[in-house]
Amino acid sequence: MAHDLKKLGMTTRNIHTGQHPDPATGAVAPPIYQSSTFAFDNCAQGAARFAGEDDGYIYTRMGNPTTARLEEAVSHLEGGYGGIATGSGMAALNTIVFGLLGKGDHVVATSSMYGPSRMVFERDWSRFGVESTFVDTSREDLVIEAMRPSTKLIVVETPANPTIVLTDIAKVAAIAHERGALLAVDNTFASPILQRPIALGADVVYHSMTKFINGHTDVVGGMVIAATEELGTTLRKGFAFLGGCVDPHQAWLALRGFKTLALRVRACQSNAQVVARWLEEQPAVEWVRYPGLESHPQHELSKKQMDGPGALISFEVKGGIEAGAKMLDQVELATLAVSLGGIETLIQHPASMTHAAMPRDSRVQAGITDGLVRVSVGCEDVDDIIADFSSALRL
Ligand SMILES: *Cc1c(COP(=O)(O)O)cnc(C)c1O
Repeated sequence: MAHDLKKLGMTTRNIHTGQHPDPATGAVAPPIYQSSTFAFDNCAQGAARFAGEDDGYIYTRMGNPTTARLEEAVSHLEGGYGGIATGSGMAALNTIVFGLLGKGDHVVATSSMYGPSRMVFERDWSRFGVESTFVDTSREDLVIEAMRPSTKLIVVETPANPTIVLTDIAKVAAIAHERGALLAVDNTFASPILQRPIALGADVVYHSMTKFINGHTDVVGGMVIAATEELGTTLRKGFAFLGGCVDPHQAWLALRGFKTLALRVRACQSNAQVVARWLEEQPAVEWVRYPGLESHPQHELSKKQMDGPGALISFEVKGGIEAGAKMLDQVELATLAVSLGGIETLIQHPASMTHAAMPRDSRVQAGITDGLVRVSVGCEDVDDIIADFSSALRL
């Protein structure tokens, strides 16, 4: 089934993978196996499952049939092997570090990545002897310069949160592989509809499933997808003991949301293109960063490695932080909230919200200026979004 599906279009594959009728009842929608544990027929079968010689289920922290549907569906679209659904995007990143790295290992990562993703390396993994260096991964010379003999992993977020800077995945994969390191890519902003890092050379892809994959602002979750079976097995072993699993009901909701990923991403994206162009024309706006605009420094790279520029825009209102805060306080249709990738338009101020935990120096160095506003464009009628922004900017 999965083999044949690979020949079909992304929307068809998005709807049909992991969507086989339930073998026990024929139910078309996947049943929710809300069970913590699974019975063995006999001791020999239980032993075989623990030894990995029998594929059946044991215990939901290690795997669950509802969760497995979601894992199959997402990893199929990413072109990877055996997804691992986690309780949050942070749990996905920590599953990768926990599974692959140890004391003395070094990581090179995107400086303007999601704030907590950076902070967990600097504040927490450093206590366990995992060192990290943050650079602008859009510049290959800086990535090469940061590599050490002990560098085991490069972590790239592209487009990055919230600067919307892109990293050339194929080039950074080559840098990693020439030096015996692996490449992990946070694909949260693009989703597999717009970008498939494994095909470009990444070894591991991860997501905050909270965002586009679920898409309805009602689930927190994450996903890890490995490029090879061997890496997938190593990661799953670590994951079973780290313990960051999802609840089966949460997995079911995420799978339900996932089924419309292609439709939602394209609807949000076409709105974002219109909103970005409109923002760029407004005298009250200092600058706009959106890969679908010719003014984006990596517009060409976005066309090369992505199937579309996505739904995230960052911009700065003239007058910096005060003017930006005024706009955020006046929007009515858009919601002032962190998170992204849902059906509704969300707007936030990274310097005081998502990236507030980062010291100001690191923030500014990473390109997150005090006045930067990030918007996740939703699926509303685009004229209504523009009318809202227009009155909030008091044009
Ligand atoms: C939200 C987010 C995360 C963290 O995910 P949670 O589900 O909130 O734990 C990681 N990376 C990116 C790019 C994000 O937007």
